[in-house]
Parts: sequence; structure tokens; C-alpha cells
Amino acid sequence: MNMIEQLLLTPGPTPIEPHAARALSFPMRGHMDPDVFAINATIQKNLLELYGAGSDAFTCLLAGTGSLGMEAGFYNLLEPGDAVLVCANGEFGFRMAEMCKRVGAVVTLVTASIGRAIKLEDVKVALEKQPFKLVAVVHGETSTGVLNPAVEIAKLAKGHGALVTVDAVTTAGMMTYKMLEWGIDYAYTGSQKCLSAPPGVAPVAFSAAAIACVENRKTRVPLWYADLEGLRAYWDRREYHHTVAVQLHYALDAALQAALDEGMEARARRVQLVGDATLKALAVAGFEAFVPEAERLPTVLAVKLPEHLSDVKVRASLREQNVIITGGLGETAGKIWRLGLMGEAARPAYYARFLETLERVIGVSGMTEVFEQSIAIV
Ligand SMILES: *Cc1c(COP(=O)(O)O)cnc(C)c1O
Repeated sequence: MNMIEQLLLTPGPTPIEPHAARALSFPMRGHMDPDVFAINATIQKNLLELYGAGSDAFTCLLAGTGSLGMEAGFYNLLEPGDAVLVCANGEFGFRMAEMCKRVGAVVTLVTASIGRAIKLEDVKVALEKQPFKLVAVVHGETSTGVLNPAVEIAKLAKGHGALVTVDAVTTAGMMTYKMLEWGIDYAYTGSQKCLSAPPGVAPVAFSAAAIACVENRKTRVPLWYADLEGLRAYWDRREYHHTVAVQLHYALDAALQAALDEGMEARARRVQLVGDATLKALAVAGFEAFVPEAERLPTVLAVKLPEHLSDVKVRASLREQNVIITGGLGETAGKIWRLGLMGEAARPAYYARFLETLERVIGVSGMTEVFEQSIAIV
């Protein structure tokens, strides 16, 4: 098959980070080889830094995508009958609620309208009505480009004695994370999002309180594969649990190191710069931001299409030019585009190419010029 290079500006997967791409072809090793354990130890240490987790937290990679990261948290921390408060204002928040139900937990939802952030006041009201074992929130809702006040929600939840799970898929790796300080007990992401490694592993972190919660369960964790105890056997005690995806560990290790070397503040600035310039440029053709500025997620730019443009046709034409972007989901389908600014996607040269291609496809000029000016001013 002749695979042509595509410019992937989707909200995941992202273009592979160059060191990670090279690491994929490192020689094969067994999953119990000392070299692989050494790489695993580096990954664990670097994940503690990425998440800002305390030294008594447990970090590792799960052998699956971000959704396994999500599911493993609920399977380990919840038991049938436990009360859980799920903040859901989009696809991924509702996915959390569905998983909690399947564990047998009793789910209470706090919602917000599509395209808007969860309100702290609503969380406060729910927390005052009854005790919860766990509060779960998606930090950056990829389906709508909304940033939820996860840090403030964590603080409220802690005040009520609940554990806190945060979906950090679109935030960890593109901004400074302080899991310990913020009172987050379980966080996860997917390798193909902000870290720009290939999909297939989920970097996760359990706080000391989360570990204690699992150790004090009345029932066994119903999911053998991602049971915290089995994960610790392999990652901490170097005992066989399951065969890990060795090449994906090489690639994740390289991408994670590259992210930490660049630094979270620099990465956050890069995203903001490219996102702001892109929004200004798209305004020339009549696109508008879908989310109010104060609630906007920096890593997924959601824009409303001008009335006269056909979502499906324009995206198909862009794909013919090997530029890939994503449309809306559910009720926003056909109405919005979601532009990925995670990891390697947030490069000025990539967005310049997208805008230049879009100019040709829709026959509007001036966007690239506005973009270049906006980038240059900063
Ligand atoms: C992509 C994503 C997930 C799920 O990750 P997969 O790797 O697709 O399983 C979960 N939460 C958020 C916010 C995401 O963007």
C-alpha cells in the first residue's frame, strides 16, 4: 500500500513526535528484559513529573488507549453500590457515567449545555445533598472544545471527603499539572493525544489515597487486566503480569522525555499562540469560536462554520489535499469543526499549511496573511 503522509490536525491522534517515531524501530526486547524495566522506571519517574503527583503516587502505562485509562480508574476505585458524582457536558463525560454504571455504582450527573463548562455552583449543590465516594470530571471536553474547572471541582470534592478522578487526556502534557496540590486521586491520558506518541498505551497516575482505597476494597477488582495490584506487580516488583507493548513503551518514553525537555510552560504558550492566530485567521472567512473565551479549551479549537459552507464537502476536499480535520459530534455535527492543537499538532507551519489549503478549497484569501502577522507579533 502506498501511504501518503497526511497532515493530522484532528483532536487525536496527533502527528508522531520525531524521537518517538525513531524509537518505534529500536530492536525488539522481551517484556521482562532489564533494558525494558529500565525504560519503564524512567517512564514512571517522568510521569510523576508530568502529573505533578507526589512520590508516593503510582504511575504506569496501561496496555490500551485513553478509554482504558478511564475505565481502569472506575474499576479499581468503585464497588457496586458506591455513590459517584459525574460531571458530564459532552461525549467523554457521558462515557464516564456509562462506565460507572457498568461497575454497578450509583451515578448522579451534573450537566451543562453543549459548548458550556460545568458550573461550580451546580457541583456544590450536588455535593451538599449527599455523600459521594468519588467525583469525576473531564478536564478538557474534546467533543466540544470546553475546558471544565477541574481544579476547582477537585477542591470542592476534597472538602466533602470524596476521591477525585480527572480525565487529563487533552490537558496533561500541554500544561503544568499539580495532581498532588490540586487533590486529584486518579488521572489518565492517552499516548496519541498531548504526548504525540502512537496510540495504544494510557499513562495513568494513582495518588496514595487512591492506592489505599483499592487496598481496602471489600470486593475484588472485577477487571483482571488493569487491576492495580497486577500493575504494581509488573511495574514495581518486576513480576510477569501480561506482555506489554514494548515498542509503544520505547516511543512513549521518547515522546514523554521530549515533552518534559520542552517544558510545560513553553508547550502551553505554543498552543495558545497557534490557537489564537488560527481563530483570527478563520474569522476572515466567517468562522466564529464555538465556546466563550473564558471556557475555551486551548488544545481543541471548536469553530462554527459560516452558513454557506458545507462541512462534509469542504473536509472531503481538504482530505484530497492530505489535510485532515474533524467535524462535530452528535448535535454539533455539520455545524462545527474541531481543530487539534495537542502536542505536535500545535506547530505554526502546520496551521499555515491548513489555512493556505483552505483558502484554495473555499476560494477565500487573506487567512494565511492574518495568521502569519498574528504569529509574528508575539
Ligand atoms: C480521546 C479521549 C478519550 C478516549 O481516548 P481513546 O484513546 O480514544 O480511547 C477520553 N477522554 C478524552 C477527553 C479524549 O479526548
